[in-house]
Amino acid sequence: MDLMQFPPHALGRLRRELLPQAVFLDRDGTINVERADYVKSIEEFVFLAGALAAISDLSRFEIPIVLITNQSAIGRGIVTPDQIDSIHAHLRARVRAAGGRIDAIYICPHRPDEGCACRKPKPGLLLDAAADLHLDLRQCVFIGDSIADLNAARAAGCQPIMVCTGRQAQALMQLAEAEHSLVLVADLSAAVEWMHRRLSAGLHVCDIASVLAAGASSHRG
Ligand SMILES: [Zn+2]
Repeated sequence: MDLMQFPPHALGRLRRELLPQAVFLDRDGTINVERADYVKSIEEFVFLAGALAAISDLSRFEIPIVLITNQSAIGRGIVTPDQIDSIHAHLRARVRAAGGRIDAIYICPHRPDEGCACRKPKPGLLLDAAADLHLDLRQCVFIGDSIADLNAARAAGCQPIMVCTGRQAQALMQLAEAEHSLVLVADLSAAVEWMHRRLSAGLHVCDIASVLAAGASSHRG
C-alpha cells in the first residue's frame, strides 16, 4: 500500500511516534576533523566531508539536535571558554548557512583527572540535556565516533549510532564484529540515512498493521 493513501495528519502523528525525541551529536571526529592538539580557533575547525549536508538533512526531522562535546582543552588552559563559544558560533553559522540547525550545545570543560560527572563516557551532559529539554533518553539517538561516546550513550539509555570518521574507527570495527547489534556506519550522512531507513521501515510496519486492523474491524461489522 502506498503511504500517500494515509491521511496526512495521521502520517504526521505516526512520524512523531516513530522518530526519536532528539538527536545528540558528538563534535570532534563526527562533525569536524579531530586534532591531537585540540581545535583552538575557527581556522582549525574543519568540517568533515558531507557533514554540513548531513546536519541539514537531519534538521528536516524537526526534532532537537543537540551537540554533546568534551572540551578538556578548557580545563587544560589551552583555550578559554570564550574561544570555544566563538568556535561554536562559527559552527552554528555555517550549519545555518547550509540549511541546518544546532539547537543546543552541552560542553564538559573538565580535565579527565578532575573526575567530573559530565565528561563522556559519563552520561552527565546527556542527563542535563534531558532535564532541560524534557526528553526520555531511551527515545533519543546519539551519533558519535568514539568508545567514550558509545559508553555515554549506553549509560544514558540512548540508541548509539557510531561513525568511522574519527580516530577510533579501527576499535569500533573490531567491536562491531563481536557485537552484531552495534550500529556502525561510515559517516554522519550514513547515520542520518540509517535514521531515514528506520523511519520508513516503521511507517511500513504501522501501515500494514493499520490495513490489517481495518480489515478486522470491517469483518466484525
Ligand atoms: Zn565535566
